[in-house]
Amino acid sequence: MPIGLLYRTIVKNSNQAVILMYHRVNDSVHKEMAVSTENFQWQMNYLKKKKYAVISMDELVHRLENKILFEKSIVLTFDDGYADFYENAIPILHHYQFPSINYLVTGYIDSKEFFWWDSDIGENQLMTWDQIKELNTYDGVYFGAHTVHHLDLDQHEENDIVMELTKSKATLEQKLNIRVKHFCYPRGKSTKLAVDLVRKYFKTGVLIFAGQPINTNTGGSSIDLARLKRVPIQNSDGKLLFIARINGWLVLEEISRKIWDKIHTYTNK
Ligand SMILES: [Zn+2]
Repeated sequence: MPIGLLYRTIVKNSNQAVILMYHRVNDSVHKEMAVSTENFQWQMNYLKKKKYAVISMDELVHRLENKILFEKSIVLTFDDGYADFYENAIPILHHYQFPSINYLVTGYIDSKEFFWWDSDIGENQLMTWDQIKELNTYDGVYFGAHTVHHLDLDQHEENDIVMELTKSKATLEQKLNIRVKHFCYPRGKSTKLAVDLVRKYFKTGVLIFAGQPINTNTGGSSIDLARLKRVPIQNSDGKLLFIARINGWLVLEEISRKIWDKIHTYTNK
C-alpha cells in the first residue's frame, strides 16, 4: 500500500502540525543524532516539493491560540546549539526560506565543557556566541532555552529547576536582545513541577514523543503549550520513515517501540 494512502487511512486529522527534532547536520560525526547533509537536503526538499507549511514556533502558537485550521504544518527544531547548525543546516534552511528554532544550553557556549554523550569527541563543538549573534540577525532563525547545564528536570528540586530556567532565559535575552519564549526539556525529561515552572516562565515547552498530537480538531485551546510533542529525526531513518514521521504517523511506531521495549527488557532478565 502506498504510504500516502496508508497515512490517510490511519490518520484522519489533516489539520495538524508536527514538530521535528534535530540535533546535528554533519557528515563527519557518525551518530544517530547527526543527520547527513545529503539526508537533510533531501528532507527539506521533500517538505518544499510536497508543499508542507514550514512555520516558526511563534506561528504555531498563534495558529493554536486562534484555532486557525491548518494542514501539513511542520516546525523545525534543533537542540543543543551545535556549530554544524551554523555551518551546514542554515545554508539549506536559508535556501528554502524555512524558519527554525535552536535550543541553546547557555552554560556550555564558549566553554570547555562538553556533553557526556560527546566524551568520544572530547569537545563540545557548539556554536560560539559570535556565531549565535550573527544568526540572530537573520530572518527566520530563532533561539530558545534548553537550561544552563542540560539538566534532567525530573532529577532536581524546585530551586535548581527555577535557576536553570530563569538563568538560561536571562542570559539569552541579555546577549541577544530578544524575548525568549520557548523552552526545550533536556532529554525530554519532565515532571508536573517542571511543566508548571516552564509554563510560568515560557510560552511553550517541547518534549520528545510524549505530549498530545498537535492539531486544532480538539479546539486548539486544549493543547498544553508547555507539553508539546516532538518527533525525533535520526540519520538512519530513511525516506519512508521520514515521510511517516512528518505525517504524524507514529501510532504504529509507538506501539512497536513499546512491544520492543517489553521484549528487550524480558530477554535481558
Ligand atoms: Zn539537549
